[in-house]
Amino acid sequence: MDKPVKTLDVLIIGAGPAGLTAAIYASKFKLSTLVLEDEIVGGQIKEAYTIENWPGFLNISGNDFVEKLVEQATGSGAVIDEFDSIISLKLTDTKKTIETASAVYNPKAVIIAAGSKRRELPVPEEKKFHGNGIHYCELCDGHIYNNKEIAVVGGGNSALLAVKFMTKYANKITIIQQFGYFQAEKKVQDEVLSNPIVNVLWDSEVRHAVGEKKLESLIIENVKTKKTAKLQVDGVFVFIGLAPRTDMYKNYISIDKYGYIVAGENTQTNVKGVFAAGDVRSKLFRQLTTAASDGTVSALMAEKFINSNGG
Ligand SMILES: Cc1cc2nc3c(=O)[nH]c(=O)nc-3n(C[C@H](O)[C@H](O)[C@H](O)COP(=O)(O)OP(=O)(O)OC[C@H]3O[C@@H](n4cnc5c(N)ncnc54)[C@H](O)[C@@H]3O)c2cc1C
Repeated sequence: MDKPVKTLDVLIIGAGPAGLTAAIYASKFKLSTLVLEDEIVGGQIKEAYTIENWPGFLNISGNDFVEKLVEQATGSGAVIDEFDSIISLKLTDTKKTIETASAVYNPKAVIIAAGSKRRELPVPEEKKFHGNGIHYCELCDGHIYNNKEIAVVGGGNSALLAVKFMTKYANKITIIQQFGYFQAEKKVQDEVLSNPIVNVLWDSEVRHAVGEKKLESLIIENVKTKKTAKLQVDGVFVFIGLAPRTDMYKNYISIDKYGYIVAGENTQTNVKGVFAAGDVRSKLFRQLTTAASDGTVSALMAEKFINSNGG
C-alpha cells in the first residue's frame, strides 16, 4: 500500500529540549508542526536525576522537565510522532522530502534537532552484549545488578554520577578510566572514591567483553604497560562521551570534522529552509539553555523563511 504524502509547514527531527522548544514556538505561530522522534520523547535530559541549572527552577527531575515540555508543545498544537524512523530524506533549497515508516512528508522548512547519542564501547563483542551485559543507562538498567559486580567505563561527571547511583545496587564497582585522573567535578570524585565498594583501574581501556550467553568478564589493557588482565563482572556501564547523530544528512548538509552540523547562531545550514538546533549543531557549549535557545531561533528563522515565500 502506498504511504500517504503529507504537506506541512515545519518538520522537526528530534524531540529533545531543542526540538520541543522549536515545536512550542512554531506551533504558537500557527504553523503546522510535526516532531519526528525515533525513540521515546525527551532526548538526553530524560536520564538526568535532577536539573539545577534551568532558570526558574531550583531543581527538577529530567522526567518532569520533559513532561512539561511535551505538554507545552502539544498544548499549542504541535504533533509528536514517537517511534517513527526516517527511511530516506532529500533536502534541497527548493524541496524537502522526508520518508518515514508511516508516511512521506513535504515540509516547507526542516529543523534538525537530532542531538547526540552515547558512544558505544569499542569492543568487537559490543553487539552481542548490548543491553545484556553492556549498558549505557544506569537509571534504566541499574536494578538488574542488585548484589552483583559491575564495571563503569569513563571518568567524567556522567560516569561518576552513575557509579554513585549504582552503589545502591552493586556490591562491587570497578571504574575503568583511560587516564590517570578523573575529569568529573572534585565533589563527585570525593564522594565516589570514599565508598569502600568502589575501586579504580587507572590508565586502562576495555579490549574485549567475554562470555557465552551472558557477560562474564572484561579484558582490560593498561595503556602504559600494555599488559592485559581479566576482570570478572556481571555487567558494564559505559560513559565515554557523546557522538552527534548526523550520518543521514551528510549528502545534503555541511558537517564539520567532528560530525556536527555546520550552522551559525542563526541555526541556518547550507540548505535554505533547513535549520540545525541544539547539541547537533557545531558550537562551543552544549547545555539545556543553549539547546532551548537554538530551538527558539530555529523556529523564528523557519517562520521568517516560510513567510518570505522561501518555503
Ligand atoms: C545524564 C545527563 C544529564 C544532563 N544534565 C544536564 C543538566 O543538568 N543541565 C544541562 O544544561 N544539561 C544537561 N545535560 C545535557 C543536555 O541534556 C543536552 O545538552 C540537551 O539534551 C541537548 O538537547 P537536544 O535537543 O539538542 O538533543 P538531545 O537531548 O540529544 O535530543 C535529540 C533527540 O533527537 C532524537 N533523534 C535523533 N535522530 C533522530 C532521527 N533520525 N529521527 C528521529 N529522532 C531522532 C533523539 O532520539 C533524541 O530524542 C545532561 C545530559 C545527560 C546525558
